[in-house]
Amino acid sequence: MIKLHDLYFKPFISEKEIDTVVQRMVDEVANDIKDDIPVFVGVLNGSFMFVSDFVKKYPRPCEVTFIKLASYEGVKSTEDIERLIGLTQDLTGRTVVILEDIIDTGNTLEEIHRIFKNEKVKELKIATLFHKSEAYKKDFKLHYIGIDVPKKFIVGYGLDYDGLGRDLPEVYQLKTTQHMTNFVLFGPPGAGKGTQADFLKETYNLVHISTGDVFRYNIKNETALGMLAKSFMDKGELVPDQVTIDMLNTEVEKNADANGFIFDGFPRTNAQAKALDELMEAKDSQINAMIALEVDDEVLVQRLLGRGKTSGRPDDADEQIIRNRINEYYKKTAILKEYYSAQDKYCGVDGVGSISEITERLNKVIDSL
Ligand code: 5GP
Ligand code: MG
Repeated sequence: MIKLHDLYFKPFISEKEIDTVVQRMVDEVANDIKDDIPVFVGVLNGSFMFVSDFVKKYPRPCEVTFIKLASYEGVKSTEDIERLIGLTQDLTGRTVVILEDIIDTGNTLEEIHRIFKNEKVKELKIATLFHKSEAYKKDFKLHYIGIDVPKKFIVGYGLDYDGLGRDLPEVYQLKTTQHMTNFVLFGPPGAGKGTQADFLKETYNLVHISTGDVFRYNIKNETALGMLAKSFMDKGELVPDQVTIDMLNTEVEKNADANGFIFDGFPRTNAQAKALDELMEAKDSQINAMIALEVDDEVLVQRLLGRGKTSGRPDDADEQIIRNRINEYYKKTAILKEYYSAQDKYCGVDGVGSISEITERLNKVIDSL
């Protein structure tokens, strides 16, 4: 991932793939123009890198020149009036191939055609490395197309975002979800996970998705997914992961402008962790870390016993039950610790200390993500 000005971009087309495509285009052009010395006309600024690589690969003599379309300055007009600079050469009778970096709506191309109408060229051909066919609104024929790209903003290999990115040898695509910090939060019973989640939510403007709450909400409100989940639960069956993932997806979509998400209670298995990765990937985002509060067993037991004295919760009063719950927690999270460690995303945080001390440790981890 890269950042240009205020926006984030993800790798989209590799240097190697571009090289292959440019070679293919050169072969096609060279195959069509056997007897002439063509004039390759690059459209600045975006095409400089493409033209350079293209002509280096061209197998026979050729001429290279550039034109630039620039908006008139000092002309008050609501219309975008463009003029051409750089076309000084006489192209009468020549075979001309326009080399464009990208053709989007085709407006620029229309302008090029208008300009070349007056030149008595033998032939005018259009070659574009990238083409957004979904956005193309004109009828001009595109003779050579490198890669058809979706209607999303790209940078690199000559293409810029507000001046930056032209120098990149590969192409990046704008991330539709801008920088989000997402993590899965774990902590054994008694570690203070809920309290800390509340603080983190406030500090970082994150949305706390507690899977238990999401389930209860969907079932209570009888949403389609809630009813589906309930149908499995009523039969005493486990709710399939896909149903849970669909519910989480809805929560993520409901909060598209959040700075990120705290996932709590999910994932519990490797398969779920993978499904969550895929969900975030589909949103142009990612899970940045598994953050686990780590508290020594004996400290947890004492904390929960202390809580049991005042809360009257029977499961907090029996030391054996407490120890079982803690063991259960470690057994279940061990797999996930492995899963996220393999991606270098496991962050253990010391959960012994005052609430504010622990919050501070968590903040430090999140600030470093
Ligand atoms: P058109 O006139 O075909 O709509 O657009 C062509 C011009 O728009 C290109 O020369 C380029 O300057 C700009 N453009 C269109 N799509 C993109 C894109 O995805 N990234 C960048 N950097 N420029 C684009
Ligand atoms: Mg251009």
